[in-house]
Amino acid sequence: MKYDVVVVGSGPAGAITSRFVAESGAKVLVIERRAEVGVPVLCGEGISRKVDEYNVLEGKKWIAGSMDGARIFSPDGTMVTLAADIAGAETGYVLDRDIFDKELMRGAIKKGAKLMLNTKATELLKDDDKIKGIKATQFEEEIEIEADIVVGADGVDSKVGKWAGINTTLKPYDLESCAQYTLSNIDVNAGYCDFYLGKQIAPGGYVWVFPKGKDIANVGIGVLSSLHEAGMAKKLLDKFISEKPELKKGEPLRFITGAAPVAQPVETVRDNLLLVGDAARHVDPITGGGLTASIEGGMYAGETISKAIKNQQFDQETLMEYENKWKETIGKKLKRNYMVKEIMLDFEDKTLNMLADSLKDYKFEDISTLSLVKALVAKHPTLLMKLSPLLKLATT
Ligand SMILES: Cc1cc2nc3c(=O)[nH]c(=O)nc-3n(C[C@H](O)[C@H](O)[C@H](O)COP(=O)(O)OP(=O)(O)OC[C@H]3O[C@@H](n4cnc5c(N)ncnc54)[C@H](O)[C@@H]3O)c2cc1C
Repeated sequence: MKYDVVVVGSGPAGAITSRFVAESGAKVLVIERRAEVGVPVLCGEGISRKVDEYNVLEGKKWIAGSMDGARIFSPDGTMVTLAADIAGAETGYVLDRDIFDKELMRGAIKKGAKLMLNTKATELLKDDDKIKGIKATQFEEEIEIEADIVVGADGVDSKVGKWAGINTTLKPYDLESCAQYTLSNIDVNAGYCDFYLGKQIAPGGYVWVFPKGKDIANVGIGVLSSLHEAGMAKKLLDKFISEKPELKKGEPLRFITGAAPVAQPVETVRDNLLLVGDAARHVDPITGGGLTASIEGGMYAGETISKAIKNQQFDQETLMEYENKWKETIGKKLKRNYMVKEIMLDFEDKTLNMLADSLKDYKFEDISTLSLVKALVAKHPTLLMKLSPLLKLATT
């Protein structure tokens, strides 16, 4: 089997990379260890409206709910409301993620990409030290797929990067442990994605309630792995639900656990190989959301690979165009938000309460650093000191 490109993983990053490669006329194969694209769903299913700008989805059947905005609750219950276009991250739509992933992959196939299910990459295929493709198992049988470029789109527990000598190890400090119920028979505001903050509620993370209708929602939690012992995510989520009468009466249709990297991106390029999506750690370190970055990064990867194939040049230097591009674009936000994450981890619940109290009536339409600072300091002057590292970041 010989292709120009083999992509490991059919999630959003793999689907979009293969779509853009196929569009250029190159031969691209996606291999996926699962039996069905997008299943099981391991996601809160929130995505920003930015997804519309990428023009990679037809129709609307991947949308379970369209959001008016986000509501953030501080530890004492004070609510700050943000309109969807200001809230940005993970709050434009709530998805049906299995349909979303299938639609992305269907789009790639339409452009000419091939897909093999039940096919698990096991190691790189090499000639001496040169990467020549991938070895995989398919229904217990070992197969070899030759390709000029291997793309690691194999998600948070990516192996492809490690096989190529890239350090993708995640420290507990950079990993969120997640648990989530899809609860039915509950009462939720179907127009808002809700976020609950606080050291007692979710140390180093948050609880989310993402509605998929007025009586159904994904209710999940992410907690920083360095701040809790194993199994704590589910225990804290159960406690949260049991204290909310509108959720407590619900029945779960689905329960999942998973992990989200909240790390800095890794090196993403070697000779004949590159990494995209969660495998590249293209995930927002504040929210743990990685869908839009996976799509955008996949587009850049696809464009670079298409050029490399046209010029028959697959060395690291040629493929660096991709790394430079994501660093200039999504990389800037990821770097900044990693610093914000570090600063926010030191915030006491008292500080979060003061922040929410200052912002609860703030008109975010007029958002500017100066007006925000004025609003914060007017009510709680001591916030200025606590927020100074964040303000410094905002003005650099
Ligand atoms: C609980 C939870 C909630 C989340 N909620 C949100 C959210 O609300 N919004 C948001 O934006 N992000 C969210 N995320 C993050 C989001 O799911 C990821 O950022 C996104 O899925 C990354 O896409 P990807 O294509 O890089 O990886 P994935 O979607 O993980 O796809 C990787 C694919 O590779 C396949 N694969 C892995 N290894 C192999 C192998 N050896 N051979 C063949 N195939 C392989 C996997 O089966 C999988 O299909 C959440 C994550 C978790 C864990």
